[in-house]
Amino acid sequence: MLTDYHLHLRPDEPNTTPEGYFTEENVERYRAGAEAGGVGEQGVSEHVYRFTQALEVWQHPFWREQARDDLDAYCEFVRGTGLRLGVECDFVPGAEDRTANLLEARDFDYVVGSVHFIGEKAVDHEGWDVWEGQGDADEVWRRYFEALAECARAGLFDILAHPDLVKVWGRGRPLPERDPRHYYELAVEAIAEGGIAVELSTAGLRKPAGELYPARAFAEMCVEAGAPFALSSDAHLPEQVGFGYDRALDLLAELGVEEIAVFERGERRLAPLPARVGEN
Ligand SMILES: [Zn+2]
Ligand SMILES: [Zn+2]
Repeated sequence: MLTDYHLHLRPDEPNTTPEGYFTEENVERYRAGAEAGGVGEQGVSEHVYRFTQALEVWQHPFWREQARDDLDAYCEFVRGTGLRLGVECDFVPGAEDRTANLLEARDFDYVVGSVHFIGEKAVDHEGWDVWEGQGDADEVWRRYFEALAECARAGLFDILAHPDLVKVWGRGRPLPERDPRHYYELAVEAIAEGGIAVELSTAGLRKPAGELYPARAFAEMCVEAGAPFALSSDAHLPEQVGFGYDRALDLLAELGVEEIAVFERGERRLAPLPARVGEN
């Protein structure tokens, strides 16, 4: 079975109301997108910072600007659709207890754990750009992968989102001089210890980076460490459901991965990937 567990029902742009996107009509568009892409199971994982309850976890100005919706109304809506219920939750160092309180109070099928921020700055948001005034790519990559390792080890999350998001800008930002494997290593050890599933995300194909998250070398190291993968497009529009899955499935096949992680009410199991067309 193919899954797409990292879906946003609405775009990131401001002024998109929940009433406009958390609707049965919109979900129907995502279902049609899944059917067209051969995706058998979908799950919604809206950004936690869209919800007012997230301000109990972190008071970053970006979160204060974004936190408008009610998390429980969201959970109720998604449950009613029959899609899997998830949430994309940032790892905020030092706020582990508050994060656990927020997550444990709800009956998610799974939680996608993300690192978008290192300190107060974001690796993927021009408004809070970590690269502003920062030319040392090795320093940024080290800090990013250390945060990712903490995220993987925290025991709060089921899926580690877009694991090398720091590369999102591609050649638009400086690249580290050290072999990136040095940085992947920091995270892979934590991934194995934390027992978290690693997201294979096609979102990077739509970004300046132009590659899957994680990079092939990183994915190889995850396989060696025995980590399972979860498959996602990080769609923000219905037509992005299952986007670029051929590329993701090619990589999994090349790595000898035959199963992916599927989730229900916090329980993880492995499900076989469908045989590829043209395969014997
Ligand atoms: Zn994300
Ligand atoms: Zn996302």
